[in-house]
Order: sequence, then C-alpha cells, then structure tokens
Amino acid sequence: MITTKQTALITGANKGIGFETARQLAQQGFTVWLGARDQARGEAAVKELAADGDVRFVSLDVTDPDSVQAAAAHIGDTTGALDVLINNAAAAFGAEEAPPSTIGLDTIQRTLDVNLYGALRVTQVFLPLVRQAPAGRIVNVSSTNGSITALVDPDSLLAQFPLSYAYSASKTILNALTGSLAVELRDTPIKINSVCPGSNKTDLNGNTGTQHPSEGAKVVVRAATLPADGPSGSFFDVNGPVGR
Ligand code: NDP
Repeated sequence: MITTKQTALITGANKGIGFETARQLAQQGFTVWLGARDQARGEAAVKELAADGDVRFVSLDVTDPDSVQAAAAHIGDTTGALDVLINNAAAAFGAEEAPPSTIGLDTIQRTLDVNLYGALRVTQVFLPLVRQAPAGRIVNVSSTNGSITALVDPDSLLAQFPLSYAYSASKTILNALTGSLAVELRDTPIKINSVCPGSNKTDLNGNTGTQHPSEGAKVVVRAATLPADGPSGSFFDVNGPVGR
C-alpha cells in the first residue's frame, strides 16, 4: 500500500549514526526504510526500533548496482515517492590508511567505492522517487575530514590525528557532489546538503569518538527536515557552516 506518511531511506543504518537517525526520524512519524547490506543485521536493527515507529528493512549494498536497483523498485512499489534520502553508509580502512605519499591506490579505490560511488549510485537511482515527493531532501553524511580548510589548519582538531588520505579525499569529493547536485537541482524544491555529525563512538573509528551517535544523528535529521527556506549545497555541522 502506498503510504501518505513522509518516507525516508537511510543507507548503512543497521548501526551507528544511521541507526540513530532511523530512530529519530521514526519518532518524528516518518516511514523509515533502514538500508543494510546484511539481512540479519538489518532485520535485527529494525526489530530493535519497533517501538520507535514504522521502520522497515531494505536490503541495500551501495557498491552493488543490482542491489540498489532492487531496493529502489521495492521502495517505489511499496511506499512510492521518497521524501528523504540519506547517504550515510561509509567505510574507513584504518589499517591501510596513510598520507598521500605512501598510500596504496587500491585503498583509495576501495574507499571511494563505498563513500563516493556508493552515494552517487544510490542518488542517481533514487532521484526519480525523490523528485516525486513534494519537497525532497538529500543528505550526504560527510566529515570535517573532507574539509581542505580544516585539514591544512594546524589549529584544527584534525591536526591531532594521522593523515587518513583515502577517507578524507572521499568526503571532499562527496562534498563536491553535494555542491554540483544542488546546482543541477536548483530549480526544483529538492535540497541537498552535506553534514558532519561530529565525533561519535562508532565502529568506524574503533569507538574512539567522544559522543553517543544519537548526538551525531541530530544534525543529519536537521538536514533531512529542512524547511523550504533552508540551504542547499551547504556543508554544516551542529555549530553551523564548515569551511570547504
Ligand atoms: P559505522 O561503522 O557505525 O556504520 C557504517 C554503516 O555503513 C554500517 O551500517 C555499515 O554496514 C554500512 N556500510 C558499509 N559499507 C556498506 C555498503 N557497501 N553498503 C551498505 N552499507 C554499508 O559508522 P558511523 O555510524 O560512524 O558512520 C556513519 C556516517 O557518519 C559515515 O558516512 C561516516 O563517514 C560519518 N562520520 C562519522 C563520524 C564518527 O565520529 N563516527 C565522524 C564524521 C563522519 P555493516 O554493519 O554491514 O558494515
């Protein structure tokens, strides 16, 4: 049955920030499609969120074109237009990370496969459903690591960490996608923004982050529910715009 409620899809939502974003949007009354590449992990997450609202599992590996097409067909047939698309899934290959002078090119390729091509593939395939919504919102979950301004600033928090070129570069290009797509869609009601969720304790960083991912999810939810006069093509965190 096509739902009249607003619908959202979150990629990589079986844990971490994506999971908490699913919870918060469900609590706001959205029908939430919880994307996960592993069926058991996805279904377990949906079960855990049952009390929070209407959360449904959709099988979705962002690196697999067939999986993305099947997910779009399923969502289109089941709930129709998509009000919110959140490109949250990401990978970081910590042990393989290195500065640009020494990093293996295959590490960059593997990172881009998920963090950039994954987000772009999902966006291209789901855009027709987002266009069907009255005021679609697309959120690219990025990172201050993708800010060249922050990266070269010795006073930035980033200066304390070893340079992770593959992950940083993937988020820089993701931010470029946000800008270019916002320009392409500027004559539509759709808004697309990048957000940095701050430093969260998740598996991505070996649980070294400083806050619970439910905190990081708040800025993602904000970007997903922007009013008509909100920004498009921006990159912001909880404190406001992040330098590119
Ligand atoms: P987690 O590692 O907790 O979650 C990552 C999610 O992405 C998991 O659900 C994982 O699934 C999924 N995923 C990985 N590869 C694929 C794939 N090919 N297809 C579909 N899903 C996939 O990380 P976070 O919650 O921390 O990260 C969420 C977002 O927030 C990311 O974009 C990250 O870059 C960003 N971010 C996080 C920060 C932090 O402090 N944690 C800081 C800044 C940005 P599976 O369980 O199957 O591996």
